Amino acid sequence: MIYADNAATTKLSPTSLAAMLPYLTEHYGNPSSLHSIGQDAAEALARARQTVADCLGCRPDEIYFTSGGSEADNQAILSAARNGAAHGKRHIISTAFEHHAVLHTLQKLGREGFEVTLLDVHENGVITPQEVADAIREDTCLVTIMYANNEIGSIQPIPEIGALCKEKKIPFHTDAVQAAGHLAINVKEQNIDMLSLSGHKFHGPKGTGVLYARKGLLLHNLIEGGAQERRKRAGTENIAGIVGLAAALEEACAHLEENAAKVTALRDKLIDGLSAIPHSVLNGDRTRRLPGNVNFCFEGIEGESMLLLLDDKGICASSGSACTSGSLDPSHVLLAIGRPHEIAHGSLRLSLSEYNTEEEINAILEAVPQVVDYLRNMSPLWRAMEKGEKPYVIQ
Ligand SMILES: *Cc1c(COP(=O)(O)O)cnc(C)c1O
Repeated sequence: MIYADNAATTKLSPTSLAAMLPYLTEHYGNPSSLHSIGQDAAEALARARQTVADCLGCRPDEIYFTSGGSEADNQAILSAARNGAAHGKRHIISTAFEHHAVLHTLQKLGREGFEVTLLDVHENGVITPQEVADAIREDTCLVTIMYANNEIGSIQPIPEIGALCKEKKIPFHTDAVQAAGHLAINVKEQNIDMLSLSGHKFHGPKGTGVLYARKGLLLHNLIEGGAQERRKRAGTENIAGIVGLAAALEEACAHLEENAAKVTALRDKLIDGLSAIPHSVLNGDRTRRLPGNVNFCFEGIEGESMLLLLDDKGICASSGSACTSGSLDPSHVLLAIGRPHEIAHGSLRLSLSEYNTEEEINAILEAVPQVVDYLRNMSPLWRAMEKGEKPYVIQ
């Protein structure tokens, strides 16, 4: 199989697996135990925290391990909201194309009386710092804007947005789940107060994540219990997972430039090749995009059908439609960048990693046009467009 769904999750790296194994076998201690088996685990935890801090450019006591990106997003946003409410500030700024871990948390706050401004995104999927500046009010208690989009790969001007939030003394959170391990991040240089990342998006294990929170920012617990994670996240630590996350992040950061160069070349070859399909359009900015992200809409096609046919041909891809959740709603991201409903249904996301090869790209470039042709030939709608009875949406 050709795996081109790395935005959904990635293959565990051998380095990460090797780092984890001892903590699933002989080093099974609880870091809270005072005996030596427990202290082995406590030392591994401390080393992992230092590694992650080094990769992000912060202090180890600013790192909180979580069960994943979703938990980190929830905790960051709810903490800032509570801190704001304590000072009578109940306005939050975000974008219309965030991950649901952010959007649904904001919706919950909306029901609790917070006012949420979701900035519209441009067709290229990028917002400007000025648009954030214009939305800031006296009672704004949080700006949360994703680093890079999981569907269309567009990268936001994070350091600039961070700088203006810093100037206005408004906490700035970024969901960097798609960016961490793929783009150079330094939370201090980039003016980031809180950042979420997830182990399984950079070849680490699933169910592991990190919340970075600048020292001095008050976090509120989602989970009460023991004193783990400096009392901010109770529960016996997932030591093997944490060690695996740190090893994967360290590996990704050590090879960041070479991986980005390799994956960007594969991406561009794929984009150039697929652009030749008539009545297709690339989603997301052509250059301000994640190294591994390719996302197209094809006129006259259902994303789900395309995925099943590609799977038959040995290619794992994804569509904007939330087919996995059983819903046929078109992607909120594609709607946010202004794609009409009928087009948003026909999207294809191919997300690459350094494990992909040029031969695989060639195979994808052969398969996708065949699948598109096959589906279009079966579609009455497409035939009507070909006969000129109905206009094409994508010229
Ligand atoms: C995958 C993802 C998440 C969720 O991370 P989990 O570790 O799966 O909970 C959040 N935000 C973005 C942008 C993602 O791509």
